[in-house]
Amino acid sequence: MNDDNRVYPVDVFVLHHSTGPDFVDTDDLTIQDWYSNTGKARAYQNGAINPQHEHPGRPGQLTYAQAQFSGSVDSSNKYNYKLTDLIARPWNNVAWHAGNWGINQKSCGIECCGNYSDKLLEDRQLMCIADFLREQDIALINAGYPNGLQVMLHNEIYATACPGRISEQRDTLVDMINNPTKWNGILFPATPPVVTPPVVVPPVTPEVPIVPEAPVTPPVTPPIKIPVKHHWFILFLQWLLKLLEGGK
Ligand SMILES: [Zn+2]
Repeated sequence: MNDDNRVYPVDVFVLHHSTGPDFVDTDDLTIQDWYSNTGKARAYQNGAINPQHEHPGRPGQLTYAQAQFSGSVDSSNKYNYKLTDLIARPWNNVAWHAGNWGINQKSCGIECCGNYSDKLLEDRQLMCIADFLREQDIALINAGYPNGLQVMLHNEIYATACPGRISEQRDTLVDMINNPTKWNGILFPATPPVVTPPVVVPPVTPEVPIVPEAPVTPPVTPPIKIPVKHHWFILFLQWLLKLLEGGK
């Protein structure tokens, strides 16, 4: 079921920030429900108006989401970002996001989750959006619309502060759409294969034991000994002398 409000080709993509929760590593259903509930409270007169849009995550239920897509942090992928469909068959259904019915009929809108009044998207997060939009851009060109997709800011269509500082990033986003090779090289450079250097076994050299130098010992001069027999002979002479002296 489509709402039959589209005017083709859908060749405008409008950037918004939600000013709501950042949603970090949050499952799609939680995000889709938040946008439905918020849209119901903000725009659809608390449910008085039937939104006519199928909830993309709850078969048979409707959603009150006001934009086709959201962008939120997903730390599990290379972009640190993911896009979530907020209504079923987003390119075939009109959402009230831009504040201008004619633009709404020919556009899709993305709500970047969070408040970007004082911050920017990371370049790799921007590349997540660019990679997604490039497919649509090429499809339009191939279908005979040489201008492809036009990326607009909400504040270029309606007097609003939306999308905050993301306004400063539109030109980069368009450059990313048009020059994927350049930006992939900048953001996701191919890592060279890890080269493990061969293990060099050093040649075995026989160990030469270090022999300490022998201490130089001075030659021992043996004490001059009086031969024993001479020694006794001297003692005998001394004794004889004393005897003679004593005899005087
Ligand atoms: Zn907006």
